[in-house]
Amino acid sequence: MRVSIIGAGYVGLVTGACLAEKGHRVVCVDLDAARVAQINRGESPIFERGLPALLARHAGQALSATTDLAAAVAETELTLIAVGTPFDGSAIDLRLIERATREVGEALRAKKSFHVVVVKSTVVPGTTDRVVLPILESASGKRAGVDFGLGMNPEFLTEGEAVGDFMEPDRIVIGAYDERAREALAALYACFPDAPVVFTNDSTAEMIKYASNALLATLISFSNELANLGAAVGEIDTVDVSRGLRTSRYLSTPLPDGTTREAPIVSFLLAGCGFGGSCLPKDVAALHAEGRRRGLPMAVLEAVLRVNAAQPEEVIRRLEKHFPNLAGVRVAVLGLAFRPDTDDVRESPAIPIVRALQTRGARLVAYDPAAAENAQRVFGESLELVDSLEKALVDADAAVLVTRWAEFDAVPELIARLNPRLLLVDGRRMLPKDRIARYEGIGT
Ligand code: NAD
Repeated sequence: MRVSIIGAGYVGLVTGACLAEKGHRVVCVDLDAARVAQINRGESPIFERGLPALLARHAGQALSATTDLAAAVAETELTLIAVGTPFDGSAIDLRLIERATREVGEALRAKKSFHVVVVKSTVVPGTTDRVVLPILESASGKRAGVDFGLGMNPEFLTEGEAVGDFMEPDRIVIGAYDERAREALAALYACFPDAPVVFTNDSTAEMIKYASNALLATLISFSNELANLGAAVGEIDTVDVSRGLRTSRYLSTPLPDGTTREAPIVSFLLAGCGFGGSCLPKDVAALHAEGRRRGLPMAVLEAVLRVNAAQPEEVIRRLEKHFPNLAGVRVAVLGLAFRPDTDDVRESPAIPIVRALQTRGARLVAYDPAAAENAQRVFGESLELVDSLEKALVDADAAVLVTRWAEFDAVPELIARLNPRLLLVDGRRMLPKDRIARYEGIGT
């Protein structure tokens, strides 16, 4: 199928490259001309495992990029809208969606053949049918369900695992306003014959995406709240609590060979310094705001957000147990990305942690294997970044582990060799506490 994708960011570009790999012909559209040129050269503008190989293979062949949205819509049969949907502090900000929709609608005006428009961005339930549809109709002068099709197809990929997630989907959710949109989306995804497909309407598809993210965020805040309580009571380690919890038959399946297999969701039951990223915080906030707008208390999601906002301070509290005055103390921040295997620092807990330490006058040095450039954009010259774990640790008085990068497994050995007096605050409960002389962690 010939597909255009509006927005060549984490979702749009990964979707485009993977659909090209599956045999579709894809045009990615972006406002950013430099990004478009990079994609056309076969270079990846984002750090995402597996993406450079796909771009090298398909750029200039099955995958191209352009800034010309109208031409891309004209030459394709189906358009996926994958632009950003930020939270503006009080509600979801749909301006990028509205603008992209208007431009797609205007392009449809000149189009003779039937075209299907699909919202792939995460939007609050009701948006596709009540915001996108009327804009498309007025900009195109055509009717949804008659002259063009309309659908909603949320994306579940996780940054850092995006290519694998897309190529081996756990599910495909197809929301459709009309039968032809439903058929077109089913045909687009027929290349994933093993994935369960959920067919539904647009608003339910939108809700499925939010329900998925809200569940994960709720588990994280639940675990963090209990971890903080365990630490306050004393003699309770959240890692042991988690072990006991995870062996429950609801979370582990006994296998015939006597071992057990844990459900992947248990990884959201580990305490830490909070969730971040471009999705969970803004999606939970948007869903909470949408409920409040409709007069619902949204008490659970409110608590999820409140616990998460307070969690970075737990790290600072652990440091202050040892350094009541952090002014002049040299602190190494290990990890800036919101999760491992990505360069994305959007809403990373590293941001409030760095800011809190800066406010207290600590002397900071930070290391992240992939996110240094993006972090420099956030902090400017105020944050010293080094290019190796060793350089971060060697002269530090304390270190704070913020991101679960696999290479941080080497931290205990490096501390023992380079700087045995260093205090390590484990914000992810990633390291064995008995192997570090001065150890503090969330939930212990
Ligand atoms: P992003 O900011 O990385 O990319 C969006 C891109 O759209 C940008 O490159 C921007 O220049 C471009 N753009 C904006 N308006 C445009 C227009 N009118 N025409 C052409 N290009 C335009 O965003 P993202 O992380 O890919 O997220 C996109 C959507 O997918 C959001 O709704 C997000 O919530 C959702 N989502 C994201 C993830 C994730 O892990 N990043 C996962 C699932 C769903």
